Amino acid sequence: MLRVRKDLCLGCGLCIESCPRQAISIVSATAEIDQSRCDQCRLCLDACPHGAIVELAPVSKRELCASVTKLRDRAEDIITRIEMLKGGVNKDKQDVR
Ligand code: SF4
Ligand code: SF4
Repeated sequence: MLRVRKDLCLGCGLCIESCPRQAISIVSATAEIDQSRCDQCRLCLDACPHGAIVELAPVSKRELCASVTKLRDRAEDIITRIEMLKGGVNKDKQDVR
């Protein structure tokens, strides 16, 4: 499903011209997509020069948990490596003395 990010939309109307289904209109100075008309052709995604049209992909709770776990593991790995590098630097300093 496509959505307009109101914080990025400047209301220029370029997306309206690109839409073959007349699914986009300007409401209160920002674009709005009528989901009942939209057929997900994605032409408006390329037409917007401000990246204000984004695609929302539904994610299950299980997928979200798996992503968080993966990111946490990666972060812990990076922290471990940094600690190892720090240990190596401190050892070098001691060897110099
Ligand atoms: S092209 Fe982008 S910035 Fe312009 S009205 Fe459409 S969504 Fe807003
Ligand atoms: S995806 Fe296609 S039909 Fe839907 S709003 Fe964008 S240009 Fe229009």
